[in-house]
Amino acid sequence: MGKILIKGGLVLSMATDKPDLRITDVLIKGNQIEQIMKDIPEDGVDKVIDASGKVVMPGLINCHNHAAMVLLRGYCDDLRLMEWLSEKIWPAEDRLNGDDIYWGTMLAAAEMLKSGTTTFADMYFFMDEVATAVNDSGIRASLCQGLLFIDENVERRLNATQQLFENWHGKADGRITAMVGPHAPYTCPPESLKLVMDLAKDLNSAIHIHLAETTEEVNQMFKMYGKSPTKYLSDLGLFEEFHVLLVHAVNLSRDDIYLLKGLQGGISHNPVSNQKLGCGITPVKELRDLGVTVALGTDGAGSATTLDLFEEIKSAAWLQKNRLFDPTAITSYEVLKMATIEGAKALGLANEIGSLEVSKKADIILIDIEKPHLYPHNDICALLAYSVNGADVDTSIINGQVVMENRTLLSVNEREVMMKVRESARRITGQTVDIL
Ligand SMILES: [Zn+2]
Repeated sequence: MGKILIKGGLVLSMATDKPDLRITDVLIKGNQIEQIMKDIPEDGVDKVIDASGKVVMPGLINCHNHAAMVLLRGYCDDLRLMEWLSEKIWPAEDRLNGDDIYWGTMLAAAEMLKSGTTTFADMYFFMDEVATAVNDSGIRASLCQGLLFIDENVERRLNATQQLFENWHGKADGRITAMVGPHAPYTCPPESLKLVMDLAKDLNSAIHIHLAETTEEVNQMFKMYGKSPTKYLSDLGLFEEFHVLLVHAVNLSRDDIYLLKGLQGGISHNPVSNQKLGCGITPVKELRDLGVTVALGTDGAGSATTLDLFEEIKSAAWLQKNRLFDPTAITSYEVLKMATIEGAKALGLANEIGSLEVSKKADIILIDIEKPHLYPHNDICALLAYSVNGADVDTSIINGQVVMENRTLLSVNEREVMMKVRESARRITGQTVDIL
């Protein structure tokens, strides 16, 4: 089993309640962290990475994405969510084939790897192609097929999820896990959602679902069922029996917030997408105060436009401070936790990833802080949360494999991926600008 020694970095483990920063070494053996201590000898080590001048921390976890939507980045901005979805996004998605999805997911993986994300949760379709791209790019992912029940094809959709589990759950050296993914309360009537819950029970799976993204959705649910989307899911028993990854949870009443108390799983807060689509602000502080796990996600690049999770870190902090007129509402360390260990909890992977601890999987990023915009080094957590951007990530290791070193991707041919994506986008959007 290969051994990698990360030497002399400023290690931020994210494993403790208060920031725990020290200059020390990290030894990786196979896909795990073997030792964290000073002056680990180099004998028998296959590769030494000099981390002086760099922060060594757990890779970031993006808890909600539709990765291949990078193909639609910048295609149709500045529209209302329902109009954006039904008039532009859904028709464009109908034109996507498996090849488009593979290359789109490869592009998204490249972007995530280059900005510090080592794990992402995805909800999309053509999940075989998504999983193949995850396998090829070296990233870690929790995948689900998006299940919308707006026509007659219920059986076919449920079968696709079953296939995803059979083909990919636990595969790619354990980097891929699967979930069941009903799209949202407004696209899943009660009888379909019950079938989905039965399937999740059979597969012993967690459930990944959008919730209360817009006020329109809440109004629609009141019209259809006389209750809020949160109450709708709660009444169906979703929060009692399952580990649930709730996405957005923006438009919650006080009663809705209390329904989420004791939630197994967590919430993916996606502040950039929410701001861009004018959806509102998730009551992160209230939820965290009740002990609910709140993690971070980008959502698809169709809305978020970027997959750089450092943008979400900044936005999440600033939105709560501004909403509550209170700069103490959330600290830099708390928001870094949302991007790491809280993300691992939301995905049900907290025993494996999310912090740097002996015997956890080696998902590690090195951030170069020897740069003008990151000087001086007064408060490292504030620097990481408020000043660093994705391009400052220098090296990424996933499952003990170096996937990016000195900003060069080792697992993805960037140029090839960009050219393939350009071909796909030309066909799908018909509005690409060629500058080369
Ligand atoms: Zn989404």
